[in-house]
Amino acid sequence: MNKLVKSENIYSQLTAIIPGGVNSPFRGFNQVGGCPPIIERGWGSHVYDIDGNDYLDLCCGWGPLLFGHCHPHIVNAVQKAAARGTLFGASTKGELKLAEMVREAYPSMEMLRFVNSGAEAVMSSLRVARSVTRRPRIMKFEGCYHGHVECLDAAGIEAQENGGPLALGASPGAVAETVIADFNDLQSVSDLFAKYPGEIAAAILEPVTGSMGVIAPEPGFLEGVRDLCHKNGALFILDEVLTGFRLAKGGAQERYNIQADLTCLGKAISGGLAMGAYGGKAEYMKSVSPTGPIYQAGTYCGNPISVAGAIAELELAFQPGVYEHLEELSNRLVKGLKEVGGMLVQSVGSMFFIAFGPEKVRNYADSTHFDYETFAKFFHGMLEENIYLPPSTTDAACISAVHTEKEIDRVIEAADRVITKLNLK
Ligand SMILES: *Cc1c(COP(=O)(O)O)cnc(C)c1O
Repeated sequence: MNKLVKSENIYSQLTAIIPGGVNSPFRGFNQVGGCPPIIERGWGSHVYDIDGNDYLDLCCGWGPLLFGHCHPHIVNAVQKAAARGTLFGASTKGELKLAEMVREAYPSMEMLRFVNSGAEAVMSSLRVARSVTRRPRIMKFEGCYHGHVECLDAAGIEAQENGGPLALGASPGAVAETVIADFNDLQSVSDLFAKYPGEIAAAILEPVTGSMGVIAPEPGFLEGVRDLCHKNGALFILDEVLTGFRLAKGGAQERYNIQADLTCLGKAISGGLAMGAYGGKAEYMKSVSPTGPIYQAGTYCGNPISVAGAIAELELAFQPGVYEHLEELSNRLVKGLKEVGGMLVQSVGSMFFIAFGPEKVRNYADSTHFDYETFAKFFHGMLEENIYLPPSTTDAACISAVHTEKEIDRVIEAADRVITKLNLK
């Protein structure tokens, strides 16, 4: 039994002052129960809590940490940037360098803007899409996550029809303008374009989903959505906040050989510093203020510390062999877990997830059959083995390039013991 005496004490104080004790809901262990360890520090592939427990980290900050914790190249760059000044409210050379690095990886992003988070990147891209098309509606895909964005987080079918939990507090107008298609189902996309002719500004989707399980796009799906968008005068937006710089240097767009009209980035772009980016065709991005009428701004956008962290992160990511290495580690893990059996494992590159119930997930409907109770038991079994998975059966776990084969094997062995103990085989 891990001892969480100090964590329990701090957590109970946190819950008195911060809702749920967390500044982002899934960090709380609501889905799996129990007290979340209060983290003191990280190092490489490990995190350490205030009770002195040492966990192998498979959450990786929910995706961003492509090189684990405290990579010296990133730490050094951030420290140097902080010593030069934390914020100027004026342009720096670093922004030019970073923008060029992002465009090198993402040729579809002819021009781009840096923002502070993935959600900001998404909301800014939607504003561009609505403005350039002069249309109100956004098509999303049920179960795709896009962050804390008014018209998207509140737009599950359940939320729309029943005023479900996510809809509370969202503007009814924003929610009403959202139309919802099914992932991996082109018919649902063309039906919506037919139902709302000339009204849909853009379709936005995760090219590989990370919040209803890790689901790959079926062959032809992404191309089909793109073609339907273009046929109907709508923009094709890929939300690569999770997949960007994680699935390949050029993210899902490189992996699946497709280009988006607008792309949203975040998470792994900056190795753990607050940062997002959005961009695409120059003709669209030129309509952003001050060259155009679309207002988007932010005091901390492109701040020197996040930019320095991002440049350092991308310098590491662009070294040869990084993604091949991640792929090998991930294949080893997934193969091992499948050999253990008793659980559903799906992965794309270094994103994977573990669930119980269905044999396969290819859309949101499949993901509603997950067995949360069994996952909670499995999660706590793994935590006892000092392995820290994301405390959510629907969310992607990640590995970093600093995880070792030995650590991957440790995860497989631990999973074997937990699955055996739970009698799941
Ligand atoms: C995490 C995530 C977001 C939101 O990013 P934040 O930085 O948390 O605002 C948006 N889209 C996808 C696909 C994500 O995984």
